[in-house]
Amino acid sequence: MKRYAHISLALAAVCIFAACGPAENKNLTGKAPGTGSKVNIAPKTNTENREVRKIVSGMSLEDRIGEMILLEFQQINYIDPAISYTSLMGRTPEELDVLIRENGLEGSYDAAAMASALDPSKLETVYPYYLLSLAISKNSEVRVDPQKAQKLFGELHVGGILNMIGGDEATPAATWRRVMRDLDSLCWAYAGKPCVYGLDEIHGTTYVSDGTLFPQPINMAATFNRDLVRSMGKINSYENRAAGVHWIYGPVLDVAVRPTWSRNYETFGEDPYLASELGVEYVRAMQDGEDGGVGVCLKHYMGYSAPDNGIDRNPASVSIPDIRDIHFYPYVKSIQAGALSVMTNSSILNGESGIANKTYLTDWLKKGLDWDGVVVTDWADIDAMVSSQHTAASIEEALERAVNAGVDMIMVPSQLDYGEKLLSLVEQGRISKKRICDACTRIVRMKYRMGLYERIYPSAEDYPLLGSEEFAAESYKAAVESQVLLKNENNVLPLKEGTRILVCGPNADSMRPLHGGWSYTWQGSNAEKFTSCYNTILDALRARFGEKNVDYEPGVEYDFISEWYVEKPADLRNIKTKAAKADCIIVCAGENSYAETQGSIHDANLSAQQKALIREAAAGGKPVILCLAGGRARIIADVEPLCAAVVDMLLPGVHGGDALAALLSGEENFSGRLPYSYPLEPNAFTTYNYKVCERRATIPGIYNYSAHTYAQWWFGEGLSYTDFEYSGFSIDKSSFTPQDELTFTVTVKNAGERAGKESVLLYTSDESACISPCNRRLAAFEKIELAPGESRTVSLTIPATQLSFADAAGRLTMESGKFVALCGGQFLEFNCTGDWHE
Ligand code: BGC
Repeated sequence: MKRYAHISLALAAVCIFAACGPAENKNLTGKAPGTGSKVNIAPKTNTENREVRKIVSGMSLEDRIGEMILLEFQQINYIDPAISYTSLMGRTPEELDVLIRENGLEGSYDAAAMASALDPSKLETVYPYYLLSLAISKNSEVRVDPQKAQKLFGELHVGGILNMIGGDEATPAATWRRVMRDLDSLCWAYAGKPCVYGLDEIHGTTYVSDGTLFPQPINMAATFNRDLVRSMGKINSYENRAAGVHWIYGPVLDVAVRPTWSRNYETFGEDPYLASELGVEYVRAMQDGEDGGVGVCLKHYMGYSAPDNGIDRNPASVSIPDIRDIHFYPYVKSIQAGALSVMTNSSILNGESGIANKTYLTDWLKKGLDWDGVVVTDWADIDAMVSSQHTAASIEEALERAVNAGVDMIMVPSQLDYGEKLLSLVEQGRISKKRICDACTRIVRMKYRMGLYERIYPSAEDYPLLGSEEFAAESYKAAVESQVLLKNENNVLPLKEGTRILVCGPNADSMRPLHGGWSYTWQGSNAEKFTSCYNTILDALRARFGEKNVDYEPGVEYDFISEWYVEKPADLRNIKTKAAKADCIIVCAGENSYAETQGSIHDANLSAQQKALIREAAAGGKPVILCLAGGRARIIADVEPLCAAVVDMLLPGVHGGDALAALLSGEENFSGRLPYSYPLEPNAFTTYNYKVCERRATIPGIYNYSAHTYAQWWFGEGLSYTDFEYSGFSIDKSSFTPQDELTFTVTVKNAGERAGKESVLLYTSDESACISPCNRRLAAFEKIELAPGESRTVSLTIPATQLSFADAAGRLTMESGKFVALCGGQFLEFNCTGDWHE
């Protein structure tokens, strides 16, 4: 389960399940629940406005406030009193031990240790009991507790629930459908309105166990392939509708500007343009499916990805121009594409709590973009203002500040008195009724657009493609196109048939390091029961190169029972001997899975043991092929020279092993490009679009102010087994005004002997500006496929204003002067002849 906050008094107050089938509940609107699969995220219409106004005007103040409250599922599920965590705390160690063994949980829980540490006033000693209770309850059927439903919906008027339903792991679509229908029916019965259900799914159906998991968003970015992102969005939308879930917390539009941040893999990488383009594809695919859609929630608005120290949920200091150009940009585009909701930054941006920033929430987002969607907080953000950020003295003050800043919905998620507190704030005049009405109207509108008032409940027959081979094939394609070949000395790759391979490293024989966090479980841990049908890297290499040709000696292994980063003591004794018998050594290194703050690190280096393994593997002189998988780049500068080839697999998902084997054998060709800059040294973190002054030559005079900016590999790098030649790079106007559209043209030829895909990347740079310009910026891209010898002329058209930058006050600006464009090693100059401000 997610975290301590889940343990609440409400959960401790165990309810007895009363027999009252949700299907028999009174439908207060008198409207019959429908069947079928069509849910359309409809555009704004007069009918919609009329209907939404009518619904809101019929709601009491309490009801409107209730709409603003979002609670976790743990507040409403049925828990057998005999296995509630409070009851488990009353058991003797012997009784606990029996229970642990009966449920097959030995190895994961130690009854004696739990009992001896237990101090009910210390949450950390209670937590294992809570987890054990969830683990045991997994074996019984998940259901909604009608008594809790009566309280939440009937008394508190709550209109939204979130998070996984199966304890801490994914659940089949059939269970989701039943639970979603029960929840919605109970919400109608007790509160006379639909229940919106929110779920975290950033790379396919994280929590619908029979759905389709894709590579993580960082891999989708590495494909530079809009079609694949669209495909992921469509499939995810379809499979969530199949499960009866309508509101998805994704995509993550944070721009990954801090190489060590633990959530980089959830993003589309370090470039705002790439993130915005892929965000738009995903949003459209999710919301506008031909046969319906689900609502998205862009997150985490904004600046959350730039913690000064690289640690999750730590403060970020970001200049106004960077906020506008880097962090705001992807949100603008996805909002314009129709995104229904936005989740706030859980942390501090320039000193202020993300949820209390009226300028960004109301002025920029709602007014500035004329956007009528919903702003929801992240998990327990109100509480965080008081307990960790110290930006409010009480929950009341935090609520007042956040709601007045523009927050519409509060992901509480476990306290039951926020509604009461909001009501009292309204009575005291600290929050206006108008603001509550606005927030409620936005939520009702979102529910209306999601089709929730139509009460459509899916059935299995409507969704025959759920978890199909067809969908899996798309995920596999993305796994192939997203792995990045960074080094291939002497063309050591592809490996010939019959090559004798020694496979080593902690990532070789586990699925966890391939799918990462947010996969079947929050941390991606304990997911084996869902992944045993997929091939690990080792399985896939054996299947492709033959059992007899593939030897395995891990050398370093994760200690899967402990924290994600703990490794068992290395055992390198056999590496040299086995390496001597092989033609090459594939070292599968990187990181184990993690999610959110748990994944924070204080050392960017690849672990010392894994580096030692690489050294040992290379000692005999056989070529080492280093295959890295993990949520972020870990520094390898000191061992990289020992490797003949390096592949950054990022987090390619459950088909990642098969895709890698196909790539290494040459059956598939590499076409992924790095979506982030891979750091060389820990004190030289940077992104490819660094300010031009960060890299300069020696200036005349006695002092040397030259500056250097290094990366092991830059954003956009990536090799192929074939060669692409660029020629004829041109632009349709060598002088332009800010009102123009610019078309760049380039011819790309596959000059090698293999078919291949190529991401054509167009960069521009502004020669001088009032704000120090970026070294270069991605301005357009397109992925093409070419047969050997084939050429194609690619045209890339952009509005000239795309070359604008935010000035010190955050206004988009263009100044006359010289620009340079770069594409595939070619460059050209062009001139802006006018000045412009937005
Ligand atoms: C994360 C969000 C997520 C939310 C709901 C938070 O801890 O920051 O990304 O959507 O939990 O699970």
